[in-house]
Amino acid sequence: MPWSFDYLIVGAGFAGLTAAEQLCTQSGKRCLVVEKRDHIGGNAYDRHDDHGVLIHCYGPHYFRTNSPRIREYLSQFTEWHPVDYTILSHTGNRYWKFPINLNTFEQIIGRNSTSEEMEAWLAEKRVPIDNPANSEELIISQVGWELYEKFFKGYTLKQWKRHPKDLDASVCGRIPIRTNRDDRYLREEFQALPKAGYTRMFEKMVAACEGRLKVLLKTDYREILPHVGYGHIIHTGPIDEYFGHCYGRLPYRSLRFENESFTPEQLIEREPVSGKAGFWQPAMQVNYPNEEQFTRIVEIKHATGQLCGNSTIVREYPDDFGPGKEAYYPIPAPDAAAIYQKYKQRADGETAVSFIGRLATYHYYNMDQVVGMALAEVGRLEPNSSQR
Ligand code: FAD
Ligand code: UDP
Repeated sequence: MPWSFDYLIVGAGFAGLTAAEQLCTQSGKRCLVVEKRDHIGGNAYDRHDDHGVLIHCYGPHYFRTNSPRIREYLSQFTEWHPVDYTILSHTGNRYWKFPINLNTFEQIIGRNSTSEEMEAWLAEKRVPIDNPANSEELIISQVGWELYEKFFKGYTLKQWKRHPKDLDASVCGRIPIRTNRDDRYLREEFQALPKAGYTRMFEKMVAACEGRLKVLLKTDYREILPHVGYGHIIHTGPIDEYFGHCYGRLPYRSLRFENESFTPEQLIEREPVSGKAGFWQPAMQVNYPNEEQFTRIVEIKHATGQLCGNSTIVREYPDDFGPGKEAYYPIPAPDAAAIYQKYKQRADGETAVSFIGRLATYHYYNMDQVVGMALAEVGRLEPNSSQR
């Protein structure tokens, strides 16, 4: 066997690269990472586009975590650019403060208010439900029908092509609802982007492995399995694909990204809307819950802090998953979970394969959670490593 490794790792995203880095640097293992795309980083991949703007190629990736351990781990490979991720929602021909907070309430009632008044208003609107079983129940129990229909129902239908009633409560539960003026989109303590971008951070993770890691791009792992020797597989691709769809296809949601770039001269005309020179829109992300076919427009330059005269916006269109499309989102719903459980049972019986990451565990995880999962799995596989 010309090529022999301790570990064969499928996928060069957060899960695969964290596992590879730890196995190489802490356990002295030799790893092969096989990635079907032409770059490392998985969905967190970023790059400078033809207009010199640093963009997130597969949708906006806002790093956040409550875990000092995960932050410290990644800090070996990057410095951070702190960001208070703030966004807006656009419907009825105007921008709304979002997620719902006291500022949004003031926009709705058209005058200044207080947290107490908002609490009392919400108390009248809320539909009493003790244990919300799905995303519709969760939102109406928090803010009532009116705000649910204004901000959540249309967005969720577009994004998932499913009614919020048919999605776990955790889906819309990702969005905070507050009665103070805290308008940050996310709840976690640490919110920041890798200072030089995600791809640079991933490159440093690979470099740390020195000669122990080989990364093979543009290759489906199934093509090379017969040609390499390996002790253990760490799989981060779709679990149903790994098992040849033997229990049927798991449902996924895909996306289509439409990029548009603007020169400084063009951006001058947008200043009345963006309120800021060099930008197209007034926030890094504007959600479009109702009137448009896309769900959001992202202008990531607001968050990266990049000094660049041009700017690029990305319109995000939800799409059906199928041949030639990326499986971006596992679908958090009881019917999909029932299929996944069958694959999980089979995966639990595989002693020579680990399944980690968003696609292999069919779970709507954030980046930090996937890093945590990879660190834990390496700890399980190599309990005697020098440090972790
Ligand atoms: P991936 O990044 O998907 O990596 C898996 C890799 O495996 C892929 O590169 C894929 O090409 C490869 N692969 C699959 N099959 C094969 C095969 N047969 N052979 C070889 N290679 C294969 N998280 C946050 O924390 N904050 C955010 O703001 C955020 N925003 C997001 C926005 C969007 C639009 C999406 C889709 C996700 C977002 N996430 C966000 C989630 C984040 O992308 C994931 O948590 C993280 O990327 C998961 O890493 P992973 O390694 O498990 O999967
Ligand atoms: N959501 C919504 N309206 C919004 C934003 C989000 O209804 O303006 C719902 C929608 O179902 C979405 C979920 O909340 O899929 C989670 O939103 P988030 O922005 O976290 O999605 P992601 O960035 O993971 O795509």
